[in-house]
Amino acid sequence: MSPHTIVLYALVFTLTILGIALTARVERQREQLAELRAWVAEWLGPGRACRECGCTDAEACLSGCWWAEEDLCSSCADDHTSSLESERA
Ligand SMILES: [Zn+2]
Ligand SMILES: [Zn+2]
Repeated sequence: MSPHTIVLYALVFTLTILGIALTARVERQREQLAELRAWVAEWLGPGRACRECGCTDAEACLSGCWWAEEDLCSSCADDHTSSLESERA
């Protein structure tokens, strides 16, 4: 084994460890973000939020949505209808 191969192996090993550590960190940050969001929602008071996906007036679904029901947005209402239809079929 040439010294270069050893360095390469060491590099790959380090990158793998870094990748695992980074993934764990991102996962934790995502949890914290969710907590923060819940906290902000609580702080802002009972606003409108979708019971399925949790989207709000300020943060609509990616494809955009409107209120199909008091606490159900149109994209989730569509999902619901289509899943019901597929169950029936
Ligand atoms: Zn929704
Ligand atoms: Zn939505």
